[in-house]
Amino acid sequence: MTHTHSSINKPSAEQRMQWAQQICIDNKARLTAQREHVLRLILDSSKPITAYELLDKLRQSQANAQPPTVYRALDFLLEHKLIHKLRTINAFYSCICPGDKHAVLFLICDNCSESTEIVEPNLMGQLHQRITKSGYVSDFPLLEVLSTCPSCAAA
Ligand SMILES: [Zn+2]
Ligand SMILES: [Zn+2]
Repeated sequence: MTHTHSSINKPSAEQRMQWAQQICIDNKARLTAQREHVLRLILDSSKPITAYELLDKLRQSQANAQPPTVYRALDFLLEHKLIHKLRTINAFYSCICPGDKHAVLFLICDNCSESTEIVEPNLMGQLHQRITKSGYVSDFPLLEVLSTCPSCAAA
Protein backbone atom coordinates (compact mmCIF):
# COMPACT_ATOMS: atom_id res chain seq x y z
CA MET A 1 0.00 0.00 0.00
CA THR A 2 1.33 3.37 -0.93
CA HIS A 3 -1.28 5.52 0.75
CA THR A 4 -0.11 7.70 3.59
CA HIS A 5 -1.26 7.40 7.16
CA SER A 6 -2.82 10.71 7.87
CA SER A 7 -5.72 11.57 10.08
CA ILE A 8 -5.90 15.03 8.50
CA ASN A 9 -6.64 14.13 4.89
CA LYS A 10 -9.51 11.73 5.25
CA PRO A 11 -9.63 9.56 2.12
CA SER A 12 -12.90 9.59 0.18
CA ALA A 13 -15.29 6.64 0.18
CA GLU A 14 -14.37 6.07 -3.47
CA GLN A 15 -10.66 5.99 -2.66
CA ARG A 16 -11.23 3.58 0.21
CA MET A 17 -13.35 1.30 -1.96
CA GLN A 18 -10.51 1.16 -4.50
CA TRP A 19 -8.05 0.29 -1.72
CA ALA A 20 -10.39 -2.42 -0.46
CA GLN A 21 -10.68 -3.94 -3.94
CA GLN A 22 -6.90 -3.94 -4.31
CA ILE A 23 -6.35 -5.40 -0.82
CA CYS A 24 -8.72 -8.26 -1.63
CA ILE A 25 -6.88 -8.94 -4.88
CA ASP A 26 -3.55 -8.92 -2.98
CA ASN A 27 -5.01 -11.26 -0.32
CA LYS A 28 -6.57 -13.47 -3.00
CA ALA A 29 -9.88 -12.94 -1.22
CA ARG A 30 -13.20 -12.55 -3.01
CA LEU A 31 -14.94 -9.26 -2.45
CA THR A 32 -18.33 -10.62 -3.48
CA ALA A 33 -21.16 -8.29 -4.46
CA GLN A 34 -22.73 -8.83 -1.03
CA ARG A 35 -19.52 -8.02 0.87
CA GLU A 36 -18.92 -5.01 -1.34
CA HIS A 37 -22.46 -3.82 -0.71
CA VAL A 38 -21.99 -3.98 3.08
CA LEU A 39 -18.61 -2.25 2.79
CA ARG A 40 -20.19 0.46 0.62
CA LEU A 41 -22.83 1.10 3.30
CA ILE A 42 -20.10 1.43 5.94
CA LEU A 43 -17.98 3.73 3.74
CA ASP A 44 -20.99 5.91 2.95
CA SER A 45 -21.93 6.24 6.61
CA SER A 46 -20.62 9.42 8.22
CA LYS A 47 -20.69 7.71 11.61
CA PRO A 48 -20.04 4.19 12.91
CA ILE A 49 -22.97 1.97 11.99
CA THR A 50 -24.44 -0.98 13.88
CA ALA A 51 -25.19 -4.41 12.41
CA TYR A 52 -28.92 -3.73 12.75
CA GLU A 53 -28.64 -0.43 10.90
CA LEU A 54 -26.70 -2.23 8.16
CA LEU A 55 -29.40 -4.87 7.91
CA ASP A 56 -32.08 -2.17 7.62
CA LYS A 57 -30.19 -0.48 4.81
CA LEU A 58 -29.47 -3.76 3.07
CA ARG A 59 -33.19 -4.60 3.15
CA GLN A 60 -33.95 -1.46 1.14
CA SER A 61 -32.53 -3.26 -1.88
CA GLN A 62 -32.76 -6.91 -0.71
CA ALA A 63 -36.01 -7.32 1.18
CA ASN A 64 -35.14 -10.83 2.39
CA ALA A 65 -31.64 -10.08 3.73
CA GLN A 66 -31.05 -11.91 7.03
CA PRO A 67 -28.72 -11.11 9.96
CA PRO A 68 -26.19 -13.87 9.08
CA THR A 69 -25.67 -12.18 5.71
CA VAL A 70 -24.55 -9.03 7.48
CA TYR A 71 -22.45 -10.85 10.10
CA ARG A 72 -20.65 -12.94 7.51
CA ALA A 73 -19.84 -9.86 5.46
CA LEU A 74 -18.64 -8.03 8.59
CA ASP A 75 -16.40 -10.97 9.56
CA PHE A 76 -14.83 -10.89 6.11
CA LEU A 77 -14.29 -7.11 6.19
CA LEU A 78 -12.76 -7.32 9.69
CA GLU A 79 -10.54 -10.26 8.73
CA HIS A 80 -9.08 -8.29 5.83
CA LYS A 81 -8.75 -5.14 7.97
CA LEU A 82 -11.02 -3.04 5.82
CA ILE A 83 -13.10 -1.85 8.76
CA HIS A 84 -12.86 -1.46 12.54
CA LYS A 85 -15.20 -2.76 15.19
CA LEU A 86 -15.84 -0.24 17.96
CA ARG A 87 -16.82 -2.22 21.02
CA THR A 88 -17.85 0.67 23.24
CA ILE A 89 -20.70 1.54 20.89
CA ASN A 90 -21.01 -1.88 19.24
CA ALA A 91 -20.67 -0.43 15.76
CA PHE A 92 -18.51 -0.68 12.65
CA TYR A 93 -16.55 2.02 10.91
CA SER A 94 -14.29 2.25 7.89
CA CYS A 95 -10.53 2.34 8.40
CA ILE A 96 -8.38 5.24 7.16
CA CYS A 97 -5.46 2.95 6.33
CA PRO A 98 -7.11 -0.34 5.43
CA GLY A 99 -5.16 -3.55 5.03
CA ASP A 100 -2.41 -2.53 7.45
CA LYS A 101 -2.11 -3.89 10.93
CA HIS A 102 -2.00 -0.83 13.10
CA ALA A 103 -2.54 0.39 16.60
CA VAL A 104 -5.47 2.74 16.64
CA LEU A 105 -6.82 5.54 18.75
CA PHE A 106 -10.51 6.21 18.19
CA LEU A 107 -12.17 9.32 19.54
CA ILE A 108 -15.86 8.55 19.90
CA CYS A 109 -18.46 11.17 20.74
CA ASP A 110 -20.42 10.10 23.77
CA ASN A 111 -23.36 12.17 22.56
CA CYS A 112 -23.74 11.58 18.80
CA SER A 113 -21.26 8.71 18.16
CA GLU A 114 -19.33 10.75 15.58
CA SER A 115 -15.89 9.06 15.54
CA THR A 116 -12.41 9.88 14.35
CA GLU A 117 -9.57 7.42 13.82
CA ILE A 118 -6.20 8.81 14.77
CA VAL A 119 -2.99 7.11 13.73
CA GLU A 120 -0.18 8.32 15.96
CA PRO A 121 2.68 5.83 15.81
CA ASN A 122 4.69 7.51 18.60
CA LEU A 123 1.81 7.71 21.03
CA MET A 124 0.69 4.19 20.27
CA GLY A 125 4.29 2.96 20.56
CA GLN A 126 4.40 4.32 24.10
CA LEU A 127 1.08 2.69 24.87
CA HIS A 128 2.37 -0.60 23.50
CA GLN A 129 5.48 -0.38 25.71
CA ARG A 130 3.34 0.31 28.76
CA ILE A 131 1.04 -2.62 27.96
CA THR A 132 4.04 -4.93 27.53
CA LYS A 133 5.53 -3.68 30.84
CA SER A 134 2.31 -4.77 32.53
CA GLY A 135 2.78 -8.26 31.14
CA TYR A 136 -0.17 -7.98 28.80
CA VAL A 137 0.08 -8.78 25.13
CA SER A 138 -1.58 -6.49 22.60
CA ASP A 139 0.32 -6.19 19.36
CA PHE A 140 -2.06 -3.71 17.78
CA PRO A 141 -4.08 -2.07 20.53
CA LEU A 142 -7.31 -0.35 19.64
CA LEU A 143 -8.02 2.40 22.12
CA GLU A 144 -11.53 3.82 22.20
CA VAL A 145 -11.86 7.13 24.00
CA LEU A 146 -15.35 8.36 24.76
CA SER A 147 -15.34 12.13 24.53
CA THR A 148 -17.35 15.03 23.07
CA CYS A 149 -16.97 15.85 19.36
CA PRO A 150 -16.31 19.44 18.23
CA SER A 151 -19.88 20.05 17.01
CA CYS A 152 -21.47 18.70 20.20
CA ALA A 153 -18.96 20.66 22.28
CA ALA A 154 -19.92 23.85 20.40
CA ALA A 155 -23.65 23.25 20.77
ZN1 LIG B 1 -7.62 1.82 10.85
ZN1 LIG C 1 -21.01 14.59 18.91
